[in-house]
Amino acid sequence: MSDYDYLIVGSGLFGATFARQATDAGYKCLVIDKREHIGGNVYSEKREGIDVHVYGAHIFHTSNDRIWEYVNRFAKFNNYINKPKVRFEDNVYSFPINLMTLHQLWGVTTPAEAEAKLEEVRIPCENPDNLEDWILSQVGREVYETFVKGYTMKQWQRDPKELPASIIKRLPIRLTFDENYFFDKYQGIPVEGYTSMVQNMLEGIEVRTGVDYFADKEALDSLAEKIVFTGKIDEYYDFRFGELEYRTLRFEHESIDGDFQGNAVINYTHPEVPFTRILEHKHFQPQTAAAIPNTIITREYSDEYKRGKTPYYPINNDKNNKMYKKYEVLARNEPGVIFGGRLAEYKYYDMHQVIGSALYKSRKELEKRSNNS
Ligand code: FAD
Ligand code: UDP
Repeated sequence: MSDYDYLIVGSGLFGATFARQATDAGYKCLVIDKREHIGGNVYSEKREGIDVHVYGAHIFHTSNDRIWEYVNRFAKFNNYINKPKVRFEDNVYSFPINLMTLHQLWGVTTPAEAEAKLEEVRIPCENPDNLEDWILSQVGREVYETFVKGYTMKQWQRDPKELPASIIKRLPIRLTFDENYFFDKYQGIPVEGYTSMVQNMLEGIEVRTGVDYFADKEALDSLAEKIVFTGKIDEYYDFRFGELEYRTLRFEHESIDGDFQGNAVINYTHPEVPFTRILEHKHFQPQTAAAIPNTIITREYSDEYKRGKTPYYPINNDKNNKMYKKYEVLARNEPGVIFGGRLAEYKYYDMHQVIGSALYKSRKELEKRSNNS
């Protein structure tokens, strides 16, 4: 008889959702995390009266009613809508690409004028499956070079021709004045921060932080009947098919007085500016921002991942996806382990997708378990 039904490796959104669902179904869970805190990459921290997104800007968005209701069980959300700006040389542009952006760039003022100009500049391509060909086929070279090329080269350090078009298809292109970064029905940020939300998800569940699964795998495995693993899948299999590639990030936080940039997110798309974006955290809570005299900003730099660093973004090109498929076959035949989340599924998941995946996998697992008992 094991001490726990589930050992959950990782206290990010996948681990926390799975733990909540299993606990509510009557199972005993232990959650571990090698970091010194819970929440994985959504972890936020109150500093100088401001909720800081320690691992980069996190805006919750979904069109799924069930997922929205689920997160609202654990947090009250504000009405933040993400409307970042782009800084290129001395100009500031509306972003994602919309009618205001094209007005600022070309002076066009109506959807019809914008469409006519785009028709002139688009570079048609029969099968635009890479990022560069796809964006050139949508908006032409000037828009590509102002908004996409430099940012993408900094973010991925790869030729945009070698990246999948899916990376840029995340962003809308609109010929209206709608500046919302997302298409979704629901959007917002927890008023008390993401850490408080994850704390609520983990209420009544045993959590041990500062514990690396691989440092003591055998002993930890022996504690539970089943493992839920949300770390790197290639590491789980001791890199036997090779190492999956990731991008890591470096965050430079700075406290200053006043209001630095008047917006939560400004992207720096010029190739010679070394960082990709600057966040100004108080603007993620628009209701309280004006009353806070000080401010905290974060410059975000992207870098190639090496062991020992934090893997933030999977690089889902053909080479890595093929390698991942091999690991996935092993994972599918591992009855005692459930793999989930951005690292274990090697997917460029957003928060709602991670929660959706955890709800689905926990439901299947708990149904199977109750059928067997
Ligand atoms: P993680 O949050 O990575 O959690 C995995 C946990 O497992 C980590 O805490 C890790 O320490 C732990 N772990 C790993 N290996 C071990 C081990 N061996 N032993 C013990 N513990 C281990 N999504 C959005 O919806 N909106 C956004 O605006 C948004 N912005 C983002 C900005 C950035 C810069 C980044 C990097 C991501 C962003 N995301 C955003 C995506 C979001 O962060 C993820 O979808 C989500 O946090 C992934 O949750 P997870 O549980 O899969 O992984
Ligand atoms: N991107 C860009 N210019 C920008 C912002 C994004 O070219 O100003 C591209 C870039 O390739 C990036 C991708 O669009 O990796 C997805 O952007 P998103 O903001 O969704 O990235 P994330 O928030 O996940 O880092």
